[in-house]
Amino acid sequence: MLNKVLIANRGEIALRILRACRELGIQTVAVHSTADRDLKHVRLADESVCIGGPKSHESYLNIPALIAAAEVTDAMAIHPGYGFLSENADFAERVEQSGFIFIGPTADNIRLMGDKVTAKATMRQAKVPCVPGSEGALGEDPEENLRLGREIGYPVIIKAAGGGGGRGMRVVHTEAALLHAIDMTRSEAQAAFNNPEVYMEKFLEHPRHIEVQVLCDTHGNALYLGERDCSMQRRHQKIIEEAPAPGVTAEQRAKIGAVCVEACRQMGYRGAGTFEFLYENGQFYFIEMNTRLQVEHTITEMITGIDLVKQQLRIAAGLPLEFTQEQIQLNGHAIECRINAEDPATFIPSPGKITNLHMPGGLGVRIDSHIYNGYSVPPHYDSMIGKLITHAESRDLAIRRMAGALDEMMIDGIKTNIPLHRELMRDTAFIAGGTDIHYLHHKLGLTG
Ligand code: ADP
Repeated sequence: MLNKVLIANRGEIALRILRACRELGIQTVAVHSTADRDLKHVRLADESVCIGGPKSHESYLNIPALIAAAEVTDAMAIHPGYGFLSENADFAERVEQSGFIFIGPTADNIRLMGDKVTAKATMRQAKVPCVPGSEGALGEDPEENLRLGREIGYPVIIKAAGGGGGRGMRVVHTEAALLHAIDMTRSEAQAAFNNPEVYMEKFLEHPRHIEVQVLCDTHGNALYLGERDCSMQRRHQKIIEEAPAPGVTAEQRAKIGAVCVEACRQMGYRGAGTFEFLYENGQFYFIEMNTRLQVEHTITEMITGIDLVKQQLRIAAGLPLEFTQEQIQLNGHAIECRINAEDPATFIPSPGKITNLHMPGGLGVRIDSHIYNGYSVPPHYDSMIGKLITHAESRDLAIRRMAGALDEMMIDGIKTNIPLHRELMRDTAFIAGGTDIHYLHHKLGLTG
């Protein structure tokens, strides 16, 4: 097993990784910015190192500082968590070149999936169903691009190969707007991602977001752990996730799961990963692969009983997976609400000191959060301050359990989106299941 892991992240996910390390008897090193001295996992870690100033680029994105921290503490491996450097192939490479184990896929895997054009080409080759669109990056010939638009059929979406976080995309409704949209997306992509490549896809109008979790070891074993429905989103940010996805049959699950696993085998994938799909009219369409642990990994853990972070640590240590596909059983239903420090109406972040905190509890209630009474939420980072997860034998009960837990939960001193979650747990369309990715946007009366 690994003997010491440096946790290159902050907040709830740093605490989540620390807990998994402790259960496996692994020593932990917390790294933190000057604004994060009071983080819960910093206090609990065996060692801690301050790596820089409050701004992310001074600390959590500061590769030399992270490598130096691993060197001085003699860590064996580095867990990047999610966000920050977790999908940075150069970081993964530097970690391994410096003699540490990167807890995640190879730099080559990350690079291949990080470019959406090469990711899609890889998936096509592995027979993963993709959104109909251009074979690769768009060329310069306007006639050819117009022909392609006609062939795919409007509306289409122009996407940047280097895009991410919902940026670098433009929807085109008519042929008259196509060439200008391609030019605009190209120059934006060049400026934002230093890569002008763009491609074209059919724009699906009412899709759901459904993703498949995979785990692969270094002995050629690859497994899928069911799917998650993450359609409840605002500005491409997931707010509520659930597993399994309402309405997806066991047959569909087995089919898409097997396709993902085969793609992993073909690319020699290592570790945990997620295949993201748009889902419309019973069909899955690949959009991208996340080469890291995800925020919403918890709901998969609840229905499978498998600790994904411990599995990541085992895989990084070179151990084989402990179970087979047949042994993975899905039990009941799990829901996760992301708790954000923000105004529930305007969504403006609301950092500050938590003056009074009551967390819910009871059977089937899980909280992954680093906050505590008296903790000050710093203004420098993502506004998510925790995740509330419920698990029950049925979807109905998981929703009611979540509604009850949200009513019990009190976080005073800052604003949170708990009121929005309370409302959504009583929303008839959500309760019915299967709402699309635009649902929340329309419900909130937002435009654009
Ligand atoms: P990012 O890496 O920026 O998150 P994705 O490719 O995952 O980019 O797309 C982000 C979101 O954009 C999707 O969740 C979906 O809401 C929307 N989207 C992307 N491609 C399409 C498409 N072909 N049709 C409809 N919506 C799309």
